[in-house]
Amino acid sequence: MPPFTPTQFIWKDGALVPWEAAQTHVSAHALQYGTGVFEGMRSYDTPDGAAIFRLDDHMRRFAVSAAAYELPLPFSFEQLCAASLHVVRANRLTNSYLRPLAFFDSHSFAVWPKDCPVTVAIIAVPGRVYIDGAEGGVRVMISSTRRFDASVLPPHVKACGHYTNSVRAVQEARRNGFDEAVLLNSKGDVAEGSGANLFVVRKGTLITNDADASILPGITRDSVLRIAQDLDIPVQVRPIAVADLRSADELFFSGTAVEVMPIRQVDDHVVGDGAPGVITRRLRTAYQDAVHGRDPRYHDWLARVSDPSPAVATAR
Ligand code: PMP
Repeated sequence: MPPFTPTQFIWKDGALVPWEAAQTHVSAHALQYGTGVFEGMRSYDTPDGAAIFRLDDHMRRFAVSAAAYELPLPFSFEQLCAASLHVVRANRLTNSYLRPLAFFDSHSFAVWPKDCPVTVAIIAVPGRVYIDGAEGGVRVMISSTRRFDASVLPPHVKACGHYTNSVRAVQEARRNGFDEAVLLNSKGDVAEGSGANLFVVRKGTLITNDADASILPGITRDSVLRIAQDLDIPVQVRPIAVADLRSADELFFSGTAVEVMPIRQVDDHVVGDGAPGVITRRLRTAYQDAVHGRDPRYHDWLARVSDPSPAVATAR
């Protein structure tokens, strides 16, 4: 992802503060031990103005992640949704990327985060493509780093510390000249990318794995499955073996940041004819129509930024 462009305001602990003022002390527990949780969401330009895509679902997952780390969120679901809309509006953004974050702050070096205060922030920056120049697809490497399974850490939880696993995988891929990594799970099947779920197209059927494969069940994955159903594309949810990547007609990643991103090469193997396939292109177009409010079937997925929001949180 190209560097972000700072905006004027960040929502932090109940109020908008200038970008430069949203600081944290270096002794923060989350900086020492990775004990934060976060979300990645996007807002899009729609005929009714800017709207955040699947805001409720992202905020629900945020709450699930916080609960998994016994991190008490000092704001309600409604307050966090209102704050997300507010930060987009205050920064006059349309297409944006939002990063809600909650973490154990500075108190003690004990591993047990008891009595660490909780800090919550929502950052919004102008939306960008995730990988520059990748419209024709990305080249991926099957990583030697495997994705953790539920016996190690909860894969469905979006926690800061969990991402050292993805960081190692993507560093290895980049070092070897690839754009992205695919991580296998502890069973040796495919899990997902460093920050995206994976889909296979084989003989006209769309295939993806589920929670059994130690994935983070993506909101984009869920959107793609629903859109595929609406387009009458047959779907199979089942484990994906490494051999499925080799025999695939098409492959793509799904994620908030990458959206629907074709994969054109896996290690030394070229996928299909090396160009985005028909089903990938259909899904990508339909996804763009959904996020930009061009398809009324998916209007429920859009939270309009201009809607008068309930009292924006100002107090804990
Ligand atoms: N897997 C991982 C590891 C991720 O970080 C993400 C991005 N949140 C995804 C999958 C895709 O999730 P979503 O579609 O909800 O963005």
